[in-house]
Amino acid sequence: MSLKSKVTGLILAGGRGTRMGRVDKGLQPFRGATLVEHVMRRLAPQAATVVINANRNLPQYQAVAGEAPVLPDYLDGFEGPLAGLQIGLQYCPTELLLTAPCDSPFLPEDLAERLYAAMQAQDADVALAVTMESEAGAEPHRQPHPVFALLKASLLPQLDAYLDTGARRMESWFKSLRVAEVMFDDADAFRNINTLAELQQHERAPAPVAIRAADPGALPVAEAQRIICERVTPVAATERLALRDALDRVLAEDIISPINVPAYDNSAMDGYALRGADLPPAGAPDATFKVIGIAYAGRPCAQAPQAGECIRIMTGAAMPPGCDSVLPQELAAHIGDDTVTIRHGAIRTGANRRFAGEDLKAGGVALARGKIIRPADLGLVASLGIGEVAVRRKLRVAFFSTGDELRSLGQPLDDGCVYDSNRYTLFGMLTRLGCDVIDMGIVRDDPAALEAALLDACANADAIITSGGVSEGAADYTRDILGRIGDVAFWKLAMRPGRPLAFGQVRSEADSAWLFGLPGNPVAVMVSFYMFARPALLRMMGTQATQQAMQARTTEAIRKRPGRTEYQRGIVSTSADGAPQVRLTGAQGSGILSSMTEANCIVVLHEAQADIAAGEMVEVLLFDGLI
Ligand code: AMP
Ligand code: MG
Repeated sequence: MSLKSKVTGLILAGGRGTRMGRVDKGLQPFRGATLVEHVMRRLAPQAATVVINANRNLPQYQAVAGEAPVLPDYLDGFEGPLAGLQIGLQYCPTELLLTAPCDSPFLPEDLAERLYAAMQAQDADVALAVTMESEAGAEPHRQPHPVFALLKASLLPQLDAYLDTGARRMESWFKSLRVAEVMFDDADAFRNINTLAELQQHERAPAPVAIRAADPGALPVAEAQRIICERVTPVAATERLALRDALDRVLAEDIISPINVPAYDNSAMDGYALRGADLPPAGAPDATFKVIGIAYAGRPCAQAPQAGECIRIMTGAAMPPGCDSVLPQELAAHIGDDTVTIRHGAIRTGANRRFAGEDLKAGGVALARGKIIRPADLGLVASLGIGEVAVRRKLRVAFFSTGDELRSLGQPLDDGCVYDSNRYTLFGMLTRLGCDVIDMGIVRDDPAALEAALLDACANADAIITSGGVSEGAADYTRDILGRIGDVAFWKLAMRPGRPLAFGQVRSEADSAWLFGLPGNPVAVMVSFYMFARPALLRMMGTQATQQAMQARTTEAIRKRPGRTEYQRGIVSTSADGAPQVRLTGAQGSGILSSMTEANCIVVLHEAQADIAAGEMVEVLLFDGLI
């Protein structure tokens, strides 16, 4: 039985459309049709029938639904998507219901197929779509799309019971079910259109290219990243180190502040400490204060000024008793031998006073575990008087190159041979990450040698990185070996460069190690390392990957095939108007390492993107951060 015959489609069009000024959203014109017609066109090929849930303008919706019914909510009063889902499940004649909102004209053509695969694989009741969202300046995060879901029709009694409690939120209901999440690479496909302004904006934008995988069966980058990161786990062992030795290491426990920082109220300026109540009121003449003492940093003054008195104070000195304000010396109207004159309005009560604990409160978390210790963190820990910290042990990563054509530095370069450069880039990238590296040299294209190298690496390392020998054809015997000594999948990824990748676990007796089999081409090695190995290794180190992603205007047109993620080498600079701009570094072949050394960033062209015109914004990942 085909999947299509098991699925009933449900378009959710029963909302009030509040954010569109209460117009009926699904009926808004868009690119020569209504929004709901676009959704119908995308869902129809994926389901036996597609019904519409609507509460107004039923005849118009009926015209779109054709033979299939238009179903108003069973509950009264526009109770939201769950009410639509309830009537959909009540109607559903097939075993599965696929939902989509009426304002998502770009929904994926393989939605049902991919949700169903995950539902089967994970034995779930519901499968829903998830995308990675990255807003400018923020960390990319997983965004679930609960209204793009495939549900078992048998869930109706559970939904009825949930709605009886008065609850109405889809996310909360899903929490009580077995849910499979499916990562889609193209966040735009789930973008719904909430306001008329957004509608007009999309209307003007170029028509989206129908997203057909450039290479059917290829795994989207985001999905591979998710699978890898979900499988690996942080190393458990920790060690205590003197503070300075902990630089660039991963903190293994929260640092709790034992004291307030600063420990006492103190002055932010050189000047005069006084009681704010004594400052001259509006309309009063200047007030002259008698200086009765002096407070230095590290040498507090115990005197308490009375009306008309003050204390000369230095930056960082403790506030004298009763004082709450500091007049900076440069704001004094006149400074006499032991007096200072203050004009009305020169400062307000409370000025220039730093409070005890305003940097860090005693008992609070000063640094959270999982943080990579940077120079500022060393200073912060020192400010607490702490001289030792617990960090995770370093990750041990073994790496080797494969290929009969490879020669090591110092050897003559025979005909048809190349120097092994990958071990040098890998050494650099791994060392920068803070791993202990084990360089295992070059391994010939020979099954026995490969097996021996893998077993050796497995006994000594947490992770193994290889380059070369994973592309189709080349990998046949590699597959055999890895099938025998481990559980390694060979992936074909929807990306360029770096299409082949092997990932999994290698085992020998009591030992095991995660294997990242990277492609052989020098640029592909680096790109696959950054995209797949780096986030996984960081997770194994006990921390999370952060990426310096930003948007820049491209100075040139870029050719791009939709359906795969492409990584190009670029140079970011500042344009004449002060905005970031990026140009590509010439030839982009995956063997051209000079394109990598000239570059200061990778330009990421996402799966759904097609050719890019000069002047458009693109995402770039900077190679170097400041810290
Ligand atoms: P493979 O994936 O083994 O088919 O290798 C693809 C291409 O990358 C071939 O041109 C190899 O010569 C090249 N290559 C593989 N490994 C290395 C390496 N360690 N250093 C430089 N080039 C390499
Ligand atoms: Mg090779």
